[in-house]
Amino acid sequence: MDKPPSLAELEDYAMQCLHAQNYPDDLHRFTLFSCSECRGTCFRVSIEHHTGSSDQNFRGIIWGECAKCGRICQMFTYTGEHRKPKKNEMPECDCGSRKFFVGQCERIEGEKGLTGFFDEGVIAGKCCICSLNKVLAFYD
Ligand SMILES: [Zn+2]
Ligand SMILES: [Zn+2]
Repeated sequence: MDKPPSLAELEDYAMQCLHAQNYPDDLHRFTLFSCSECRGTCFRVSIEHHTGSSDQNFRGIIWGECAKCGRICQMFTYTGEHRKPKKNEMPECDCGSRKFFVGQCERIEGEKGLTGFFDEGVIAGKCCICSLNKVLAFYD
């Protein structure tokens, strides 16, 4: 099944964020988040940074509130028991919208046919209103 063009564009954007073209032998895996309740793909995003989180290496939880049914889910969790919530960020698009389509892209290092190792990943968002793409978090 074909994805809507705007979401294929989000995948392209996430691949570019990981400089996928420089790693032709590696596998890039893209997943679009959707609501477990209504399958909606537009979310009000809130980023909870935990101790040790940085721009290039996110630690914490990314929450999404489904714009359609209001269900709140953990879209991405990368933290540990010793880490504590530090600050909350509500990403906003240049147009003022706080609703995003959210996708995750990960690079798995190619090991000549063997199961590779996770290298790095990105959580990218596309504004549901104006379609601008934005990085929400990098992690490795
Ligand atoms: Zn929903
Ligand atoms: Zn926008």
